[in-house]
Amino acid sequence: MPDQNQLRDALIAIDGRSYKAYKELRGSYQFSDFSLYIDHVQGDPFAAPSRLRVEVAQDQAGYPPHTHANASRSNALGTYLAGQFDRHCRRLQARRGSGKSGLIEIDTPAQEILQRTCIHVGDRCVEARFAVGLPAQGRRVLGRQAAALLCDDIPAIVEAALHYAQNDADEIDRYVQIAEDADFLRAQLATRGLVAFVAENSILPRRSGVDDRPLAEDAIPFDTPDSLHVEFTLPNAGPVSGMGIPHGVTLIAGGGFHGKSTLLAALERGVYNHIPGDGRELVVCDPTAVKIRAEDGRRVESVDISPFIDNLPHGRDTRHFRTDNASGSTSQATNIIEALAAGAQTLLIDEDTAATNFMIRDHRMQLLVAKDREPITPFIDRVRALYEHLGVSTVLVVGGSGDYFDVADTVVAMDKYIPQEATARAKTIAAEHPTQRQRESDETFSPPLPRIPLPQSLDPSRGRREVNVKTRGLRTVLFGEETVDLSAVEQLVDASQTRALCAAMLYAREHYVDGKRSLREILDLIMRDIAQHGLDVLDRRLVGDHALFRHFELAAALNRLRSLQVVDER
Ligand code: ADP
Ligand code: MG
Repeated sequence: MPDQNQLRDALIAIDGRSYKAYKELRGSYQFSDFSLYIDHVQGDPFAAPSRLRVEVAQDQAGYPPHTHANASRSNALGTYLAGQFDRHCRRLQARRGSGKSGLIEIDTPAQEILQRTCIHVGDRCVEARFAVGLPAQGRRVLGRQAAALLCDDIPAIVEAALHYAQNDADEIDRYVQIAEDADFLRAQLATRGLVAFVAENSILPRRSGVDDRPLAEDAIPFDTPDSLHVEFTLPNAGPVSGMGIPHGVTLIAGGGFHGKSTLLAALERGVYNHIPGDGRELVVCDPTAVKIRAEDGRRVESVDISPFIDNLPHGRDTRHFRTDNASGSTSQATNIIEALAAGAQTLLIDEDTAATNFMIRDHRMQLLVAKDREPITPFIDRVRALYEHLGVSTVLVVGGSGDYFDVADTVVAMDKYIPQEATARAKTIAAEHPTQRQRESDETFSPPLPRIPLPQSLDPSRGRREVNVKTRGLRTVLFGEETVDLSAVEQLVDASQTRALCAAMLYAREHYVDGKRSLREILDLIMRDIAQHGLDVLDRRLVGDHALFRHFELAAALNRLRSLQVVDER
């Protein structure tokens, strides 16, 4: 393997040559205390930057086993180290020519701790993957600038960011311990009969709609209502108390602007771990919880929405419901059935983003429009069957409809951001003021039947390119000729998840979509492969900007592909 000095000489030797000369540098280099790999060289200074990797042996890096002993800990450590690496990149990065020349960039985590490909800490070594803009003036190589970047700046960043001794050991302990505690809590929920837990004093509100950091001033810490108080003993933090949301149907009621949606949003994110200082470190939710909302305009491919919608005009089939342009209610019904088919055991719904006619039909409306004229069986008449027959719990924000008191097991009322348990009061009110509405369904709720995607309907090609799949930001996947809109998939939280999920769609097409396997089987096989072989299994290249997603979000992406075709039977 050539060494650091040979790389420096090679870079100086190509100074002034055409940019293509950089291609010769692909390969590995031995630096004094790490190895550098140049995996991909960009085509020109304005193209996507080059992909590089360093490996520091553990005897140099020095991470004690407790910092990465299990997945909870190593993902947290990786998140911490990516943040450090990023900080040092910004400190040292200099503009070194045209276009992206001089750029050094690592995938940067936000508030969630996710498994990422940018940093891997193992027993043998620490690996970091990052992107570099190889310096040029116009289209000419700037060899000396490149030498300074690769042979001086990168070693400085590696030294400062990746060595245990250079980092704050206490801060690393906070990261790995909090992640382990949160995973422990989440794993305990089911046996304690809970769908979610919110620790006392958690900070739920965020700085703004576009800034996910905790609200800095005037945030009211979470306060547990006595009757919902539960306690856990965490492996690191010891005893912790807070509010447990039990299985069943839970309403979050309360006046407008009193913090209902903020609580629900924290539960949605509670399927992920959070970094220390986030405020939601110990807010955890059933890992199979799926946020459900209306999403008019979405495509639907052969979904059985008949539990909610039947007798559509013109005898349209709702057992194999298809549309290129779903309404509010049909899209919400579809989102529920698809989530159930993927294994969701908890549904999270906010009135702010739900279709009113899907949620409720009150007594007066029942009198005006007879049941046989109304295709929709509202959610209020299905929510109990979901729980009693399928064991699927619902947490529902309702400020507008007291009719839901009849079907709730638990009612939490938010009052100036402080939750109070109001189940008994709600039940008394329900008894004293009956709604007179007729229940529109007492039927059971059957689990959705498997749907089998057809391989030819997932076509990654576009024009002359056999494979053209990529993402645009957090909420758009481009798959072949199709644009998949994920703007209603709210538990997708990081653009690196979107990139990985996009790769997984292609991986699904190449390995498992065969016209025989059901969507659920395909999802399970992909998640199994990731669990066994890591996220790298999804991509032929070694990329540093993928993060782990849940199979629910992958299902959501596949289900929103406008070309998708499925069949029922093998
Ligand atoms: P609702 O859904 O009940 O109408 P929201 O959850 O949207 O209310 O909250 C209204 C506003 O109050 C938001 O701007 C939110 O950030 C803020 N907020 C929510 N919870 C808290 C809290 N615990 N402390 C301070 N502000 C909060
Ligand atoms: Mg709200």
